[in-house]
Amino acid sequence: MTECVCCSGLRSEECCERFLSGSFVPTTPEELMRSRYAAYVTEDAEYLLATWSPKSRPKTITFESCRWLGLNVKNRSTIEESGNEGYVHFVARYKVSGKAFRIEENSYFVRDNNRWFYVSERGDKN
Ligand SMILES: [Zn+2]
Repeated sequence: MTECVCCSGLRSEECCERFLSGSFVPTTPEELMRSRYAAYVTEDAEYLLATWSPKSRPKTITFESCRWLGLNVKNRSTIEESGNEGYVHFVARYKVSGKAFRIEENSYFVRDNNRWFYVSERGDKN
């Protein structure tokens, strides 16, 4: 039994592994965000590209040689009235050659055909 790398406290097979393997599709922006963090940890470029909105998707993903330390979701998905937009505010920490860094982002997600996609960091902070 391994705890999921996204720090949810759940077992990986009950958490992000279901999404990374393609058995299930995330049903909330938070599930997608967590599984994308897990994809960064496991360097799963295919999953990251597949869950990136075609509007903002990069052509390729290069992984920095870093060690991921943890994920902290500060604010759960706020679904807008349409139900097809959501935000997740999170902090992710990682280390590169012994030096610690943190990323804080309020990510914006949209739903299309019942699938959630990552679009970008939200422009305005709140
Ligand atoms: Zn997880």
